[in-house]
Amino acid sequence: MSAEPDGPEDRLRRFATIWSRALFPATATSLTRPELERQLEPLARRLRDALAERPFRAATGESVGAALVEADCTEPETLSRTLDVVDAYLVLYCGAQGEREELRARCARLQHAVAAGFARALRERTLAEQEAISRAALAARGTVAEALHASEARFRAVFHGAAIGIGIADLDGTVLEVNDALVRMFGGLEHQLRGRNVGEWSHPDDSPHVWKLYEELVRGEREHYRVEKAFYRPDGTVLWTNLTVSLLRDADGVPQYQLALVEDTTERRLLHLRLRYEATHDALTGLPNRTLFFERLEKALAAGKGARFGLCYLDLDGFKAINDSLGHAAGDRLLVEVADRLQACATAPGEMVARLGGDEFVALTTGPDTERGVDELAGRIMHALATPISVDGRELTVRGSIGIVEGPAADRGAAEVLRSADITMYRAKHAGGNRCELADPEADARAITRHGLTTALPVALERGEFFIEYQPLVHLGDGSVRGAEALVRWLHPQHGVIGPDRFIPLAEHTGLIVPLGRWVLEESVRQARTWQARHADAGPLRVNVNLSPCQLTHPGLVSDTVEILERTGLAPGALCLEVTESALIGADDDLLKPLRHLAEMGVDIALDDFGTGYSNLANLRRLPVSVLKLDRAFTQGMQHYPVDPVDLKIVEGIVSLAHSLDLAVTVEGVETGAQADQLRELGCDTAQGWYYARPGPPDRLHELALADVL
Ligand code: C2E
Ligand code: CA
Ligand code: CA
Repeated sequence: MSAEPDGPEDRLRRFATIWSRALFPATATSLTRPELERQLEPLARRLRDALAERPFRAATGESVGAALVEADCTEPETLSRTLDVVDAYLVLYCGAQGEREELRARCARLQHAVAAGFARALRERTLAEQEAISRAALAARGTVAEALHASEARFRAVFHGAAIGIGIADLDGTVLEVNDALVRMFGGLEHQLRGRNVGEWSHPDDSPHVWKLYEELVRGEREHYRVEKAFYRPDGTVLWTNLTVSLLRDADGVPQYQLALVEDTTERRLLHLRLRYEATHDALTGLPNRTLFFERLEKALAAGKGARFGLCYLDLDGFKAINDSLGHAAGDRLLVEVADRLQACATAPGEMVARLGGDEFVALTTGPDTERGVDELAGRIMHALATPISVDGRELTVRGSIGIVEGPAADRGAAEVLRSADITMYRAKHAGGNRCELADPEADARAITRHGLTTALPVALERGEFFIEYQPLVHLGDGSVRGAEALVRWLHPQHGVIGPDRFIPLAEHTGLIVPLGRWVLEESVRQARTWQARHADAGPLRVNVNLSPCQLTHPGLVSDTVEILERTGLAPGALCLEVTESALIGADDDLLKPLRHLAEMGVDIALDDFGTGYSNLANLRRLPVSVLKLDRAFTQGMQHYPVDPVDLKIVEGIVSLAHSLDLAVTVEGVETGAQADQLRELGCDTAQGWYYARPGPPDRLHELALADVL
């Protein structure tokens, strides 16, 4: 492809030209096409800005939609043509910077915003117009009544000049007079109206009160009424109107005629229906979208006592892989086919299918027996997916995970139901996918916080919500502070401080542990360097940092650590990495290589939580570790006298074995002086626990360390 020769302003103008060409034939504007183009230019600029705006602001797009209405581009075509042009050309001509995929997504949101702004502005304009018309109608009624009594000539003038349709009928309903505007609305032939009876114009969409109001008026019981009413034109097409009917009395106050003022709202109504359709349906598959689904679900949940509902939340398994490998066009075709199949699964009354976005679909049932109904619905969906889908000559096997929620309608809100279904669907996915799971309120409650924390994690790292506490490591021989273990915490904006036991597993699950672990490492190493620089007299304080299994297998472990040590200027010997025993069970040489590498550089490796796993003591020799951290379980056994002699023997055995392998022994969870004495006697080297200090801020460690040497 050749390079684009012109600058961004040229491209913007070109976009405005295309837009004006598309729009011009659809408008009733008095402008010429170039004039229209000039009007569209600033709007095009706004669209371009909106595409790049960060964060995305729907208001910018909405303002463009509203501006179209202001510029009298109110015909139904103008909106859809605008959306088509934006869809096809905006990214192409105005998407200068940014990743293509993201630009496309923003462009889609922008189109929604433009449509929403257009609809709102049109609604406001319509309301204002209706207001003006009803005022005009009242005025006209007075004028016409007066004119009827006064002079025939003046009456004719008012009657025929009016832009609004006017008809006069007697009290039996026979049409006596119609003006030109009304004749035009009904297709142009006067004799089709005059002499006919009003009663012939009933329409299936008439609400019953239309005719009740009519009867009251001709009986003289009401002066006027106003309704929305449809009429069949002689050619069978439908005319929608705002109809205002007034009673005309003679000079003595006796009812004589009825006067109808008729405003044609057909076009506007079509546009509204269309906008409503576009706002409630998914453009790709034509299925109802999230908005419409929410409306229906809310209605189902408000159905009152005794009503139940059933919902299936479907997410395709492995759709991302299909999208990535075959491209989005193929992915889209697959989604369309899935949508068709799903639609065919939910055809009974009270059933509906919608697309929530991406590869997520929902099916709702509100039948008489939803307990059975929803089960069968889920079964039909699974069955519908079972046949491979052919896309671009390939047979693709599609599977899905379904979360099912079923229950009494009255209990919950729509958002809550949907979240519960979503969580249940995830449970199905975690269990291997290609299956249905039924919601379980207790599992939900657990998962909601889990779910919430998991999604909040990445942002938390960006926002600096993590902090580190340090717990001293004390030499059992002389009671001096030798260093500290870094323990990470999360200061959650809503839940307050959250301990690592609650979020580290989630971070491991999502992979966030790698950047989080790197942050902890960097922060702790810098802290150790600060201790050393500020208080060289307190002895070389070291820092222990925990490593997760995922970090062990991450290729950047060695290079990151080396880089951090070099940048901060901390000697490798002042860093100890703690790895759990379970992470190293059955470790092969590949896994051990990075640790060995670090150990060779002088970094200490500690085997954490020792004694909780199943390691073969003989295996210790193979591992590049220099410290054993005895799990808290051993210390706990020494809390009460008499201490179980078997426990003592085990610890004694471990310590002597460790020492014979040249490993230092650290004990965790020391809470009393008696435990400390005991462990010292058993030959342990260092200790950690509440007896000495709870984990705390870094400055506390200084104080402890200094207090020691003094
Ligand atoms: P761990 O490595 O075994 O850390 C020791 C845990 O024992 C800490 O819990 C500490 O607060 C607690 N503890 C210390 N002294 C006593 C005591 O005398 N009595 C009792 N009952 N408990 C004591 P914490 O801070 O909740 O950390 C829990 C675990 O979270 C850690 O266990 C470690 O596995 C993990 N963790 C903490 N920070 C990190 C980190 O930065 N990265 C990774 N991967 N894991 C971390
Ligand atoms: Ca540890
Ligand atoms: Ca431990």
